[in-house]
Amino acid sequence: MLKTLHQIASIGIVTEPAPDIDDTLRIRERLNERIRAVLGRALCIRHIDAGSCNGCELEIHALNNPIYNLEGLGIRFVASPRHADLLLVTGPVSRHMEAALRRTFEATPDPKLVVALGDCGCTGGIFGESYATCGRVENVIPVDVAVPGCPPSPTRILQGILTAVARSPASAASADLDTINLSVPPPE
Ligand code: SF4
Repeated sequence: MLKTLHQIASIGIVTEPAPDIDDTLRIRERLNERIRAVLGRALCIRHIDAGSCNGCELEIHALNNPIYNLEGLGIRFVASPRHADLLLVTGPVSRHMEAALRRTFEATPDPKLVVALGDCGCTGGIFGESYATCGRVENVIPVDVAVPGCPPSPTRILQGILTAVARSPASAASADLDTINLSVPPPE
């Protein structure tokens, strides 16, 4: 015991001082600030499954986990199109969902953005167009950004969402726009 105390007293504190903070590393906070600068509020997304196999939904769900931390970026999902800025549409649009998708689009206040997700949302995918499906989302409502993949990764989905925000009419009025950083931090 005495030997240990002597050792502690003679060596002193060897812990290195903490490094200074580096503001350039604050990607998430800057994204949050810029989304608020463009929209004046958090980005609210209404997700619509227009006929997906649910593979794309699994990747969307991953966006809310602690790795991608979507709410930390100031982006959240809402239950009503009347509260939404952006519609995130998955799947080929089945004939049963065609009217519902149109009505959801009409219920979303302007200016609204639409992101079509997955190969099915972009092109109709393996389902194509038939008596049962209208094919790609753009066959039913206007689309701003299409994110391919079967399914696209959470990072690609996030890039698609941020691309839509950066190219929106609201953002065109913002001088800060060209500096929006679309790079997504890799999972830690
Ligand atoms: S793109 Fe692939 S994962 Fe997404 S709904 Fe179509 S088949 Fe499923």
